Amino acid sequence: MQILTSTTTEFDFYVWSQSLIAEFGAQVMSVQPEQLRLEDFLGRVEKVLSRGLSGEDQRHIACGAGCGACCCVNVATLQPEAHNIVAHLRSTCSAAELGEWSSRMEQMLAMICGLDDEERIASSQPCVFLDQQGRCSIYPVRPLLCRSVTSTCASACRAALQLSMFEEPQPIMMNMFQKELMETAFTALALMWCEGGGDGRSQELTAAVYPLLHL
Ligand code: SF4
Ligand code: SF4
Repeated sequence: MQILTSTTTEFDFYVWSQSLIAEFGAQVMSVQPEQLRLEDFLGRVEKVLSRGLSGEDQRHIACGAGCGACCCVNVATLQPEAHNIVAHLRSTCSAAELGEWSSRMEQMLAMICGLDDEERIASSQPCVFLDQQGRCSIYPVRPLLCRSVTSTCASACRAALQLSMFEEPQPIMMNMFQKELMETAFTALALMWCEGGGDGRSQELTAAVYPLLHL
């Protein structure tokens, strides 16, 4: 998908990433992975986003609950994010529901394993967490890179995603402040995780979450 700049705002992303590390570093670096909760970290990121988006920015963003047309891409997910998602599933689902999630993820992995980004889009396999109404069933804990994507036109997104990998993609207008903010938070979280001795690399969302569900 090609990207064009929409509106943006003055903001020092480097200074902000340092402040995130200063505030949340000790928590992310020292806690046992299975006890990690990112509620405060994600809350801070969302608060800065809502302060940084002007009213005009928000009016331009077409994304909303029930769209989800873009939820058919490989989402790069960090280990701390995957732990946070698993903690959320464990705290909100029954044992039977966890078993259903596990089966769905297993089927999904069989279908998308090894697909690169273009092949994944061409496969039209929606995210395992997208529900029948087109809503994200893990919305409060969804990955940062899911939060980075916006568009000014939902139909342009659908058209772009329906093109075959050999066709020329149409430009999609997105909010670059939101994109850079979420990507900065992603990098800061990866750095904190590495400092704590973890693996700072990302994995496709289902591949990152599935094994942790069985620890
Ligand atoms: S990026 Fe496009 S497809 Fe995704 S939620 Fe926004 S408008 Fe819908
Ligand atoms: S985690 Fe949620 S927002 Fe992200 S791709 Fe899946 S359904 Fe969409």
